Amino acid sequence: MNQSESTASPYNFNTEPFLFLVFIHISALFAFMPSLFSWTAFGLFIFLHWLTCSIGICLAYHRFLTHRGFDLPKWLAYTVVFIGALACQNGPIKWVAQHRMHHAGSDTDDDPHSAAKGFWWSHFKWMCYEHKTFDDPNMIKQYAKDIADDPFYNFLEKYFIQIQFAFGFILLAIGGWSFVVWGIFARLVLAYHGTWFVNSAAHMFGYKNFKLDKDLSTNCWWVGLLAYGEGWHNNHHAFPKSARHGLRPWEIDMTWMAISFLKMLGLAKNIKIAQIDPKTEPEPSDKVEKDPFFTATMVRQAA
Ligand SMILES: [Zn+2]
Ligand SMILES: [Zn+2]
Repeated sequence: MNQSESTASPYNFNTEPFLFLVFIHISALFAFMPSLFSWTAFGLFIFLHWLTCSIGICLAYHRFLTHRGFDLPKWLAYTVVFIGALACQNGPIKWVAQHRMHHAGSDTDDDPHSAAKGFWWSHFKWMCYEHKTFDDPNMIKQYAKDIADDPFYNFLEKYFIQIQFAFGFILLAIGGWSFVVWGIFARLVLAYHGTWFVNSAAHMFGYKNFKLDKDLSTNCWWVGLLAYGEGWHNNHHAFPKSARHGLRPWEIDMTWMAISFLKMLGLAKNIKIAQIDPKTEPEPSDKVEKDPFFTATMVRQAA
């Protein structure tokens, strides 16, 4: 018997999310049917992937709502968080609460998706089990106190699945099944795995800029690209509040580009970013025997 299924375990297998994920993955296979392919549908897939992942999840749910790396006017906050709900990864309250739990107990038993329990556990299996603490509504409310009473966020929390269905019907009306298969199912599968790799691969493969005692987080370049900058995850664990995750020149961070654009428009304010302390950059000629670790400083950008 698996440890997570033992009688003393706080976990209970939950068929609902498991069957939901199976349904989404099987439906996405229709994308291989040539008759359902069109370049317009493929363009829609790319655009919606960027919109719902980079803007919805990375910018809104993660860097803004969970970590408060910057401020947004309320109308824009509601807009981008609504886009986050279109990524169909839970409503904002549970997502924020469980992600805060992840940071509070990274890779220990207090982490909902501890990578210490293995790749597949942290990738998706953790979602198929209900945990008596991580899924406890009171606990969720406690971890997301600042947003738990917001009526709009509660609306998204309750209806994010129905909203996805409504979105599917709109796409069906506009572009037929081709739009549904590419704009909903294929998009969700790629988006899910992109986010999940942050919890799995970016806690296992890659390099570390910062030595952290408690967690396994890494900077993993291909997750950095697939998840719009979230793969620079060791940087993020070192400086969770930093709105910028890519800190070294090659650490491309597309979500940071979007935040910079909002800053240029005067919409994102009070931005907190980590900057690597220049004197800790190793000279190319330095013979470094261990991984080089950096120090960085959190700075607040002028509005
Ligand atoms: Zn992490
Ligand atoms: Zn985080």
